[in-house]
Amino acid sequence: MRWIGLTTRLLWSACSPKIRRVSTMAPIMDKVDSLVQANKVMIFSKSFCPFCNKVKSLFERHNAAFLALELDLMGEEGVSIQEALFAKTNQTTVPNVFVNGHHVGGCDATVIASKEGKLKELLEGGPKEYDYDLAIIGGGSGGIAASKEAAALGKKVVVFDFVKPTPIGTTWGLGGTCVNVGCIPKKLMHKAALFGEDFHDAPYFGWQLPEQVNHNWNKMVEEIQMYLKSLNFGYRTVLREKGVTYVNSYATFKEPNRLQAVDKKGKVTEVTARNFIVAVGGRPRYPEIPGAKEHCITSDDLFSLPYCPGKTLLVGASYIALECAGFLHGVGLDVSVMVRSIFLRGFDQQMANLIGDHMESRGIKFVRGCVPTSVEKIEEGAPGLLKVTGKMDDGTEYVENFNTVIFAIGRDACTQSLNLEAMGVKLNASNGKIIADEGEKSTSGHIHAIGDVLDGKLELTPVAIQAGKLLVRRLYTTSEALTDYANVPTTVFTPLEYGCVGLSEEDALAKYGAENIEVYHTHFQPLEYALSKRDQFKSYGKLVCVKNENYRVVGFHVLGPNAGEITQGYALGIKLGATKADFANLIGIHPTCAEETVKLHLLANL
Ligand code: FAD
Ligand code: NDP
Repeated sequence: MRWIGLTTRLLWSACSPKIRRVSTMAPIMDKVDSLVQANKVMIFSKSFCPFCNKVKSLFERHNAAFLALELDLMGEEGVSIQEALFAKTNQTTVPNVFVNGHHVGGCDATVIASKEGKLKELLEGGPKEYDYDLAIIGGGSGGIAASKEAAALGKKVVVFDFVKPTPIGTTWGLGGTCVNVGCIPKKLMHKAALFGEDFHDAPYFGWQLPEQVNHNWNKMVEEIQMYLKSLNFGYRTVLREKGVTYVNSYATFKEPNRLQAVDKKGKVTEVTARNFIVAVGGRPRYPEIPGAKEHCITSDDLFSLPYCPGKTLLVGASYIALECAGFLHGVGLDVSVMVRSIFLRGFDQQMANLIGDHMESRGIKFVRGCVPTSVEKIEEGAPGLLKVTGKMDDGTEYVENFNTVIFAIGRDACTQSLNLEAMGVKLNASNGKIIADEGEKSTSGHIHAIGDVLDGKLELTPVAIQAGKLLVRRLYTTSEALTDYANVPTTVFTPLEYGCVGLSEEDALAKYGAENIEVYHTHFQPLEYALSKRDQFKSYGKLVCVKNENYRVVGFHVLGPNAGEITQGYALGIKLGATKADFANLIGIHPTCAEETVKLHLLANL
């Protein structure tokens, strides 16, 4: 590496000069051209310029030798060279970078070329031609957000999205899990269930309702599916408007920069791209027991089920099982939940048990300490009748008949047939998820992963969207902003919603030690339940604080109506480092449930 400086006299007070017109530029231009031709990496620089130092460090990181000509140390000749550079590149500033004779540009352009992989190609001989700058596999929450962002930055983008039918043949349109078989239909069915509660309370407010208010499953499904179709259409339209190519085919890697994709008619497409984002999400897991795939369904089928599921068993005790159990019971069905161990693993267990207690008090049955061993069809129909056999923890057999069995026992990453490992992408062998660095870069530098397929990260829509947007900004601009996976708020939409942000009490105790943790609580009665005396004092809030950090709140938990709406706002405070005193000093909005969290007490004071 040679850095050249011919004189120590500073001629320029800034990196960007005022360019003077000169008539005798030819010999200087020849000099510039020969420097560019002679040096694989040629940096026209100034010794005091921080941006020049940044690109020098960048080439050092690429292990690429460069010649840096310090124009400020070259007297009049430096001025003339800068004028010649302006004539050649239309760039007034330094650094002015050339690689293998190609003009890269200034600091930002060089940094972006490095992030995008173009610099590596230039250093290896020349830019390669690809069909697309960016190919995205998966048109769900993460993939669509990333594609729109990249297109807005002027990149040529293709998105592959394909839904493999479920064992009973359910399929859906563009938009991924959240839109079609996740958050959106789930929240709408949750709303359907909440109506039932309102009908229960309404007479106390003077409403005269018929004795029996019936729910029509098919009408609900029809309306929800119509709405989802409009969202599918909206996604296709927005991609077209943004200039993103959408291909409804199943993509796999054929070569490191080449995808092969097959559509439902078997038509094969191949495309090349410089960079890739894998955003394929996950699909529900089935247990390896007789009758599981033949007779049972998952959340992928439930939201478009063309008949009322009737008496239903949910297997699993996390987000999906509890939410589905909640709304199915709320629309009037007989619902049981088979719980292998605990409720809501990973969540605050006091809150999880309060949710369980509340659901049980409403009439949802829990079969605790049990796993299914077989499912047998005993009657055809829609729904038919299924005989479920299970094994209890104490070794005894569980047998019960249900119309519908829904498995919600976790989701598998859709990486099995992507051919990722052959491309150098490391997967977590235990769950098939993609291992990536803090910038979502896999072990193969031009392949990134976002959303549910990313190992060790939260499986939530806003997380996938944020990761997609920030990744694209880092790839194609000078942005270095990483997705912050800490303190992500979330809500479980059970009949009483549970919202939280930060640590569970268990995790806080493990992280900070019992002597450093203080927990504040409140049981409260939402005013809206007061007349009907429904769910008296079942709503609950708690703050988990770190004593030796000025009682900073590291965990916020609330169980009650509209917990999602409440938690979103408080999440900002937690992210900004709010303390218990900040909560106590905050004036509440009266009368709301949200105000309860500003008046929490030590348990002893309740
Ligand atoms: P996805 O949205 O799953 O998109 C991946 C897409 O890639 C899919 O369309 C898939 O078919 C496609 N694909 C897969 N392989 C290929 C391939 N080889 N070629 C082409 N296409 C392919 N999150 C929340 O934040 N709030 C909620 O309330 C919430 N509720 C949920 C309820 C349920 C029942 C479920 C199942 C999930 C819920 N989630 C919720 C989670 C949320 O849906 C996911 O975190 C989110 O959809 C993940 O987005 P993604 O982009 O990673 O993947
Ligand atoms: P999870 O992986 O969170 O939970 C799986 C559940 O199934 C656990 O209760 C587990 O029990 C149980 N289980 C696993 N295997 C078996 C088995 N063989 N027999 C019986 N029970 C079993 O999966 P989910 O499907 O509920 O959720 C997936 C993700 O989707 C969540 O992590 C969440 O990020 C996202 N999501 C978000 C929602 C929201 O934001 N409101 C709503 C729904 C989903 P055990 O504890 O014993 O292992």
